[in-house]
Amino acid sequence: MAQKQEYDVIIVGTGAGGSTMALELTSRGLNVLSLEYGPMVPPHKLMSFENFHDAVRRIPYRELKPWLQGRPEPDWKNGLYYVTKEESNFNTAGEGWHWRRYRLVGGRTKFWNCVSMRMSPRDFRAALDDGYGEPWPITYEDLEPYYDRIEQMAGFCGGTVSHPEVPLGKYQPAQPFRCGEGIAKQAIERLGKRTGNPLLAYLQAPHAIITRELNGRLPCHYCDGCVSGCATASKFDGAQVFLPLAQKTGRYMLRPNAVVAEVLVDPDTGKARGVRYIDRETKLDYEVYAKVVVLSASCIESARILLNSKSRQYPNGLGNSTGNVGRHLVDHIQCVGEGFLPQLYGTETFDTAGYGDGGYIPRFNIPYQKSLGYIRGFGVQTGGGRGVDSRLSGFGADLKKGIKARFMSRITFESFGERLANPDTYVEIDPSGEKDIYGIPIVRIHCRTGENEHKMFRDIQGQLQLMLESCKAEDIAVSPLINEPGWSEHESAACRMGRDPKTSVCNGFGQTHEVKNVFVADSGLFTQSSEKSPTVTIMAMSLRGADYLADEFRQGNL
Ligand SMILES: Cc1cc2nc3c(=O)[nH]c(=O)nc-3n(C[C@H](O)[C@H](O)[C@H](O)COP(=O)(O)OP(=O)(O)OC[C@H]3O[C@@H](n4cnc5c(N)ncnc54)[C@H](O)[C@@H]3O)c2cc1C
Ligand code: SF4
Repeated sequence: MAQKQEYDVIIVGTGAGGSTMALELTSRGLNVLSLEYGPMVPPHKLMSFENFHDAVRRIPYRELKPWLQGRPEPDWKNGLYYVTKEESNFNTAGEGWHWRRYRLVGGRTKFWNCVSMRMSPRDFRAALDDGYGEPWPITYEDLEPYYDRIEQMAGFCGGTVSHPEVPLGKYQPAQPFRCGEGIAKQAIERLGKRTGNPLLAYLQAPHAIITRELNGRLPCHYCDGCVSGCATASKFDGAQVFLPLAQKTGRYMLRPNAVVAEVLVDPDTGKARGVRYIDRETKLDYEVYAKVVVLSASCIESARILLNSKSRQYPNGLGNSTGNVGRHLVDHIQCVGEGFLPQLYGTETFDTAGYGDGGYIPRFNIPYQKSLGYIRGFGVQTGGGRGVDSRLSGFGADLKKGIKARFMSRITFESFGERLANPDTYVEIDPSGEKDIYGIPIVRIHCRTGENEHKMFRDIQGQLQLMLESCKAEDIAVSPLINEPGWSEHESAACRMGRDPKTSVCNGFGQTHEVKNVFVADSGLFTQSSEKSPTVTIMAMSLRGADYLADEFRQGNL
């Protein structure tokens, strides 16, 4: 009789958390199977070469039109890799939630913008300092060696200037500032002196991008195409950077198009024994078995899998006996300001515009925020370069000339601010019992924006306006309203870590308090989000969790 195959570890999802787990566990000698909802997308289907050769010496009308009709949804060709309409698996209550759901090998790292500031020691102390929310069970010092390692393994670039709110990482050189960013840097530094705020600074933003060759990967060719996918893997993308290395160990298996529905539990031991998944193409049900299960399906989806893993031992879902799975969900407040710099009108257009936003203005509200009555912070990602001035008035040849003259003079300030968890923002299994096309119960996402967020948003609006004016920008526009939650793609904390099993789902290594052979390795683990983009922290925590998991596995503790 054929023996049932059992892996050491099954990892669900291959994005930032899952691909890091897979590489570290296979490197430590464990046999790993990754199950991934979406397909494998080959590099030639990614768009960074296309962008490079798609000259922008003229602006085609089809691109211009949506801008002139209002701020359009970005024209991301990667929409192909979202869930399909038929696969709809959530609804919302309260203020709504924008959940885009990329589904492919590599997850959202395929299309992320890869801005990668570390969290600071203050970020890990936030709840202890102001008394709001669950304290982190780990400190910056616990994570520091893993930040160091992940930045070097994946290849990150960044500046050389340290700031109290943004620890320096292990970086390759960053791209130089663009002209507009150079102008903004001088303006922001002058503003800092004028307002007497020593924290106001304009740094080179760290990115998960190589600017020098690394392990056979080509350095960035500055095509400005990161959110369309990087064909040369110069940007970190789990599918092109970590999974091939995991494969080389000979201990790695990847199963794409596998939609995981639940974690299976051994009725005798109460431990996980594997997972059940549905083949996305044939719709057939399968079970696969392992000694350990890691959920890296992203914040909301990992919570969904745990909540759907109901059994005699865990009638409320796995890891959920204290009702914390799905709770404490947060995302970032987003506010965008843009303008056009007259100093740069008439500049020739060119293709090698560079990656993402070159600048970062770290949190600077600490000296004055008490007077505005809110806690926590925001940072500002800032870039300069190509952009259509859709507020320019006029028509015909003159309008066209004006838009062309300003095309290279755009300056942007995009702020991300911390949201506080509140009892009205959470994920649950939809009480109506509705299921998706795979027969898996869907989720309902509840959301309410609190007063702290509104106060912070008003402060951000004012600060962005001031920054743009300090740069002497024209045609200034600042977001009038907070974006619908979910838009920032920085959702976190639905399976948070903590010391107390009554108030958290996992311990400081991502191991669920309730079932010792089930781990979470994605942004669901965050205890507080801070204002930083989350992914480098997801990867560092995943690396730390993998180290612990491998040690415990070897000692027979799982
Ligand atoms: C356009 C864009 C720009 C971004 N820019 C930045 C940035 O500049 N900086 C930053 O820090 N972050 C950025 N992000 C966010 C970043 O991509 C995410 O924080 C990060 O990828 C989350 O990692 P994860 O492992 O939690 O989830 P993901 O990377 O989303 O991976 C989850 C994986 O699980 C799979 N999966 C889901 N459900 C199942 C299931 N039921 N069964 C099997 N597999 C499943 C998914 O297909 C996916 O592959 C951006 C995101 C986008 C979309
Ligand atoms: S990392 Fe560089 S080469 Fe790759 S898509 Fe981004 S800008 Fe282009």
